[in-house]
Parts: sequence; C-alpha cells; structure tokens
Amino acid sequence: MMFGTNDNQMHLLNTCPICNSAGQKAVGQSKDYLVSNEIFTLVKCSVCDFVITNPRPTPENIISYYKSGDYISHTDSRKGIFEKVYGIIKGYMLRRKTLIIKSIAKKPRFNILDYGCATGDYLLYLQDRGAVCLGYEPNQDARNRAKQKGVSVLSNDNELLTDHYKNRFDIVTLWHVLEHIPDLQEKVKLFSGLLTQNGAIVVAVPEYKSYDANYYGFDWAAWDVPRHLNHFESKTLTMLLEQNGFIFEKKYPLLFDSFYVAMLSEKNKQNGIAGIIRAFFIGLLSNLKAFFGPIPYSSQIYVFRKKQ
Ligand SMILES: [Zn+2]
Repeated sequence: MMFGTNDNQMHLLNTCPICNSAGQKAVGQSKDYLVSNEIFTLVKCSVCDFVITNPRPTPENIISYYKSGDYISHTDSRKGIFEKVYGIIKGYMLRRKTLIIKSIAKKPRFNILDYGCATGDYLLYLQDRGAVCLGYEPNQDARNRAKQKGVSVLSNDNELLTDHYKNRFDIVTLWHVLEHIPDLQEKVKLFSGLLTQNGAIVVAVPEYKSYDANYYGFDWAAWDVPRHLNHFESKTLTMLLEQNGFIFEKKYPLLFDSFYVAMLSEKNKQNGIAGIIRAFFIGLLSNLKAFFGPIPYSSQIYVFRKKQ
C-alpha cells in the first residue's frame, strides 16, 4: 500500500483554516498507530492557537489511511475486548445522543442530517423513533451497511448543494467528524445553508486540552493522525462556528470517551493488562478533573444554533 511519504501525496497548509494567519509553529509529532506507522507533525496557529496536522495527505491520498480492519467506527465487529467495550458504549451512546437531540429539536418530528454517519446505527435508532433521517458517508463499506439497515445515505456531499436540501434540516450532527474535514470553512457554510432558520448543529470532538490527552502526550490515541486533520478546543471551535453565523448554545461531556481513548492509548504503547487497568484510572481521573476543574472532558458535544 502506498502512503504519503513523498511530497506529491502530501499537502502543506500555509494559512490557518480558521483565522487565515500565516504564522504557525510545530508543537509536536504523533504516530499513525493504526495504519501506516508514519510520523506526522502537529502545528499551532500563532494567532488563534488552532492545531492542525500539517502537512497532511491530500484528499485523494487520505483514503488509504482509513484502510484498516481496526477502523472500528466503520465496522459492526464485536470480536476482541476493545470491540466488546466499544459495542457496550455504542448502545449507551445511542440512547444518550437521542435524549440530547430531542431536547435540541424542540419538536417530536424533525429532519436530521448525520454527516459522516458511518454504519448508520444512530440514524436507524432515530428513524425508528419518528425522525426524518438522511446520512452522508464517504466510506463505501460503512455506507453499504447503513443502507442495508434501511437508512438513506448519500455517497457524494455535492448532492447537498442542490436546492432540494436547502433549509431542510432542523439538526445537522457531526459525531467525531469535524476533525476529519479538510475544507472546514466550506463545509460549515454548507451546513448553515442546509439548516432551517432556527436549526442547530451538533458537533462532537476530542479535546487535546483534556487530562487524558495531557497524560499520554503525543501517544494520545485521539490525535489519530493523519485521519484527524483538525484538533479543536472550545475557543477555536466556537470561532469557526461564529464566523459562519452560529451562536454557542450548550455543551455536554462524553464520559466514556476518556476510558476508551485511554485504553487505545495504552494499546498503542503495548502496555498489556497493566495498561488496561491504568487506562481505567486515567479515564476516571480525566472525568473528575473536568467535572471539578476548568479543563475539558476528553471529548465533548457542542450545540450551536443558527442565528435568526
Ligand atoms: Zn489561526
């Protein structure tokens, strides 16, 4: 398999995707533990502090970095211990996300777009409860699984540019998707155009300023380079959304992500059983530190409302 080790497969961003400033400095390097074992550099904007993977694979080349049996969100597999844990969390999260979505929609029957819907379980769950659902998923295997379950899924997001979808959705969700998107400004503008007048965008992202991120340093699994191109914090995410006509409304913690990410981080370091035990304590500590202190949870759900 070919990876982006030569220059024509890599793309260097010269300006910040959020504030457009040219000043940037390297803050560290992280390894792709999942697919290529390559090292990638993380740079921080010297004006707004936004952290990105730079250089990053081109949109054509990045596809090869998703080709792993381990890229768990694209499968329904429940074989090993990590997959078992993932399956249990997934069930809990379906219920929790639905409660959150219903409170944001403020009406029983609503239109929702899940951008990056993976295997479609979440949309199916909502659909069974009366929501009108559409997904978008670029990964063919994941998309086919979603379709087999009876979920409508687009393969090409250019279809969303047609008048048919304009101002159509009450909610657009991006569950751990925005960190993967190369053209942030274009996509956030697209989402704004898809939403109804009082529509909301729901964004879940990992937080590199969390306790578990700080503990694992550049071995933290949620750097997930080069699949994660963007590394958000509350400030930069809010800037991006405000620039495009949204207002921050509220946020929720994702309490299981700290355990899951800590476990994957320990797995990356091949720390065995001791690592799994330590991951539990780091995950717990991360949640406690975020609950009592100013630092964020390992991952958070942000809700932004479109300005009237
Ligand atoms: Zn910037």
